[in-house]
Amino acid sequence: MTTRLPDPALVVLVGAAGSGKSTWAAARYRAEEVVSSDTLRGIAGSGPHDLDASDDAFALLERIVDARLGRGLTTVVDTLGLDDARRSRWLAAARSAGLPAVAVVHDTPAPECRRRNATRERPVPAPALAGQLKRVPVVRRSLETEGWDVVHIVSRDEPRVPEDAAGRD
Ligand code: ATP
Ligand code: MG
Repeated sequence: MTTRLPDPALVVLVGAAGSGKSTWAAARYRAEEVVSSDTLRGIAGSGPHDLDASDDAFALLERIVDARLGRGLTTVVDTLGLDDARRSRWLAAARSAGLPAVAVVHDTPAPECRRRNATRERPVPAPALAGQLKRVPVVRRSLETEGWDVVHIVSRDEPRVPEDAAGRD
């Protein structure tokens, strides 16, 4: 079953590398609606893995999120979503735009994330992935009291591509 999420809305993805965030978003939202730190690292820097370009990428990401939300446009924030201060900023921006705020948690089992990560062209270093995997359940609990209108936990049997293609109101 596909859960219907509000739309327009701010949608913040949360999950470790390889948990399926970008795949989930690409199946449900138009490319223009998804603001991705990896994509912006590739634009401001030499590629999605250019960590030296992170500050510039996140500065651009914040500008784009503010611009889109200010226009009442659906905005899917595709980052790890594990940084409390950033989540709080995006939530406040949705609030001031009068848009519902949705957190979407990909708590894909750790072995599956590790397996997917290992098969990637540029795997995330194992200690970094371990740190992310440890943070996900902590953030998942924290989301319950942060003030999100919807906290959607992506279930393992949620179809990779939603049955009704849009998957939202
Ligand atoms: P990152 O944080 O590194 O950007 P991510 O959370 O965006 O990772 P994806 O790039 O969406 O993860 O997915 C990682 C890999 O897992 C891809 O090879 C993708 O094809 C696969 N994958 C994603 N979702 C599923 C799924 N529901 N079932 C099986 N494989 C999946
Ligand atoms: Mg991704």
